[in-house]
Amino acid sequence: MDIAIMGAGLSGLACAITLERNGIIPTIYEKRSKVGDRFVNGEVLLSIFTRPVHDCIASLSDDYGIYLTPTSNISKMNIFSKNEKADIEGQLGFTNIRGRKHDSFESQLERQTKSTIHFNSKETYEQLLDNYSHVVLATGDGAYAKEIKNFREDLTVSIKGATIEGSFDKYTVMAWIDYDISPYGYCFLIPYSEKEASIAIAIPDLPENADVDICKLWDIFYPKVCSQLEQDLPVTDQFQITHYPIGICHSARIGNTFFVGNCFGSMMPFMGFGQYAAIVSGVFAAYDLCGLGKYEELMEPLRQSYEDSLVLRRAMEQLSNEGLDRIIDSLQGYWGEKLFHAKRNPLKVASFLLRPYIKLKNGVTS
Ligand SMILES: Cc1cc2nc3c(=O)[nH]c(=O)nc-3n(C[C@H](O)[C@H](O)[C@H](O)COP(=O)(O)OP(=O)(O)OC[C@H]3O[C@@H](n4cnc5c(N)ncnc54)[C@H](O)[C@@H]3O)c2cc1C
Repeated sequence: MDIAIMGAGLSGLACAITLERNGIIPTIYEKRSKVGDRFVNGEVLLSIFTRPVHDCIASLSDDYGIYLTPTSNISKMNIFSKNEKADIEGQLGFTNIRGRKHDSFESQLERQTKSTIHFNSKETYEQLLDNYSHVVLATGDGAYAKEIKNFREDLTVSIKGATIEGSFDKYTVMAWIDYDISPYGYCFLIPYSEKEASIAIAIPDLPENADVDICKLWDIFYPKVCSQLEQDLPVTDQFQITHYPIGICHSARIGNTFFVGNCFGSMMPFMGFGQYAAIVSGVFAAYDLCGLGKYEELMEPLRQSYEDSLVLRRAMEQLSNEGLDRIIDSLQGYWGEKLFHAKRNPLKVASFLLRPYIKLKNGVTS
């Protein structure tokens, strides 16, 4: 059995590490000149999105043998709507770095991999299929899956982000769900040291947002962050992504091709989180290749999470700033405590309750 992994990101490298541990050495093809050779940004693993798993980092090492050191744990989250604020406290998850830094998650995974990585690869999926018995598609997008009619695209999002310098509490993440600055979307501030943080606006490309200029939104958001933190916060790096597709594969495996990470649909439509699912999908593909499970079956819970997340996204698109104010207000106190510290998956419950209503309104979701 010869295995090619296309893409040395989170899912591809997690797959390689798991194969190696089971005595199989794959060959990895990466289009960039080194692992993580892209913009640097802070990301989060929030336990509210990974229930029943409460501690993703512990689960990845104990359950899957994938060892990652986050930047920090998150002990506080400030969530702002237009007129309200909720401060959620407790062990809420972790922050981590992505991209070309030494401690980025992909760099950490690379150091756990022994397999050969061919950088600057121009190999196509078809060429890899010709030369290998099995191909793991881990390119971080659904393009190939779409080409072979195996991808249901549910939305695209546009994102504008920056690295800012200042003085940050690295245990606190901030989120804005205010449709004046990110219509039907959200904004984040994620510190990745005491001196650097990422800020970003993400908006879905809905017809209602057709005339929205994300740069104009930025001109509202960035000064708002500066004034809320009472700091100048100079920008040291910037990125912009337009029409980033979010969707899911009809089949996680077709023949001897495995779709992992975002190629499968690990990026959740509600808030765009996908790191944990991407890593786990890479591990599961390796399990199948090692005869330790069936990939399609192993991916069923992640598929269900995706569908639940899509219901929440569609629900979010029905809300106004007044509705968001009511939700954020109710998160301060009892309901926030219940939602963020529940043992069961609160988003699954919310999605179950919302599903008939969303189906009625949009005619979507399974
Ligand atoms: C701006 C932004 C912020 C995000 N924030 C969060 C967050 O806070 N929390 C969270 O959980 N998730 C977040 N996500 C989502 C998360 O980053 C992804 O779900 C996750 O990285 C997907 O992992 P992957 O393995 O599919 O892709 P990646 O980790 O992106 O890896 C894909 C790899 O494939 C390579 N590649 C691409 N094309 C080819 C090709 N043709 N040949 C060979 N190699 C190729 C790429 O260069 C890359 O190295 C965010 C995403 C974005 C865009």
